[in-house]
Amino acid sequence: MASCGSDDPVKPDVPDSPDAPDKPETPAAVVASPAAFDGNKRAGTTYQLLVYSFADSDGDGIGDFNGITKKLGYLDSLGVTAIWLSPIHPASSYHGYDVTDYYAVNPKFGTEKDFKRLIDAAHEKDIDIYLDYVLNHSSAKNTLWYSNETVETWFTQACSSTTNPYRDYYIFSKDPKNDIAAGKIDMIATEGANGYNSGQWFKVRSGSGAAGQLISDQTYWHSHFWTDWFADFNYGKASQASSSPAFKDLAKSADKWIGMGIDGMRLDAVKHIYHNESSDENPTFLAQWHEHCDSAYKAQGHSDDFFMVGEVFSEASSVARYYKGLPSCFEFSFWWRLKDALNNQVANTFPSTILGYEKLYASQRANPVESTKLSNHDEDRTATDLSKSPSKEKQACAFLLTAPGKPFIYQGEELGYYGTKTNGDEYVRTPIMWDMAGTQVASGALGGKVDKNMLTKAISVEAQNANPSSVLSVYKKFSRLRNTYPALASGTMSEHDTYNGKSAYKTIACWYMTSADDSEKLLVVHNVATTGTQSLTFRDDLSKPVAVLGRATSLKNSDGTYTLNMSSNTSIVFQIK
Ligand code: MG
Repeated sequence: MASCGSDDPVKPDVPDSPDAPDKPETPAAVVASPAAFDGNKRAGTTYQLLVYSFADSDGDGIGDFNGITKKLGYLDSLGVTAIWLSPIHPASSYHGYDVTDYYAVNPKFGTEKDFKRLIDAAHEKDIDIYLDYVLNHSSAKNTLWYSNETVETWFTQACSSTTNPYRDYYIFSKDPKNDIAAGKIDMIATEGANGYNSGQWFKVRSGSGAAGQLISDQTYWHSHFWTDWFADFNYGKASQASSSPAFKDLAKSADKWIGMGIDGMRLDAVKHIYHNESSDENPTFLAQWHEHCDSAYKAQGHSDDFFMVGEVFSEASSVARYYKGLPSCFEFSFWWRLKDALNNQVANTFPSTILGYEKLYASQRANPVESTKLSNHDEDRTATDLSKSPSKEKQACAFLLTAPGKPFIYQGEELGYYGTKTNGDEYVRTPIMWDMAGTQVASGALGGKVDKNMLTKAISVEAQNANPSSVLSVYKKFSRLRNTYPALASGTMSEHDTYNGKSAYKTIACWYMTSADDSEKLLVVHNVATTGTQSLTFRDDLSKPVAVLGRATSLKNSDGTYTLNMSSNTSIVFQIK
């Protein structure tokens, strides 16, 4: 039996008898024949990497720059063109989101020379480097993670006296409630839910400054997490943020890294910088930050734009306004809708939902870049959310890499790692298990805080590279597919007129991806049912399948239509133009 790729004329439907010259056609297995990959990684896929737990080169159990440099081949094999590094600066905690010095690299990760070597080696493989920049707050502590060394920081200097130059970098008040009501604190200008909240004001601790007694009647502000570990920056009025001392100093630190060769930034917690997250203050601030970094980047001779993506941990409707300030934002809603689709086996409105988000963004900015993702370091693992079903995990990958946007792959997702935040964030930030011995995972930066049940040889890179049906192999296959076809890499999504939103086909998500020059068009079909077979009829030409995950059969009918029978958790991409 010929595959469905046959262009043979349709045989007449005749009875199967000894006298009949031909047997009737029966459906044949759909077998993918993708075009050869020309080596041009055109999809812009990014790998989210935790520096402290990705790859350790010196055996101290802590990931480092040289470890990443050694594993660039692995990242290249995943087809990525950028890596987002968790904060590289000295900090008071392992995760680094409480920076103590924006001008330095964390010595546990290596030297500046090591970092520069990583940048240069990555660029040789067409991999950009994005830094995680924390503009909402700095550390309010004066100790370093791991060494526990005491250091002088902007915040400790600010605490040392009311006339210290760093005083203006933060927000201090003896009476925050009345100061806010009197309009004395520019970044907290409104009343009610966006105004004073006693849980966000912390007394300066005696260990924070050399002259703690002097300001013992004062408190400092941190906008979220309800912890005194962080102190929020003070940028003054949003419209004039770029002239504030804190902005200028942070911008100068950014210049240093841009001069060293970084290509972009992920910005942490941007909805918390100004206190009213649904006002235009944060986008106004972010536009100034982006303009500064983009100018600094272009001054280095680059003709492309400096990439910048903001973390607005909210639904798309709240994220949209942030496109006024940034070229890209994470689309958390993508993963939340996909998770629901896979777990509830209802996917028929997924394409129209994604298109709805795109419309929201487009109303705020020309050419918005939706940074799509599954889970990240602040969420329970994708595999956990999908009941540790490899079939669903692989299909989540297929959705991510066949949908529009700029996809991000989170460290360990490509290996099917699981974990929940219940016992601590470390459990969703597990070190990569490179070999079957699992040397790096048992101890080290995260102190073995990992679900031990997960640590089988099968979860290692070594084992999954050798297994063509592993989660890793599926990631590589679909990443290569996205890099091969411009329609997937940078194309436009459109709904399928037969299957979009139809309740009779609720397990089907079906859409087109069309290249910018209209020369290439792909049909993407996902069946999220976990049992049975879904039979579909298409007027589209299904003769060129270019990717198959799962199992399907197809048959060209006498009227020119195609029948496609899709098994559970099956995804297929056809080239139709
Ligand atoms: Mg190390």
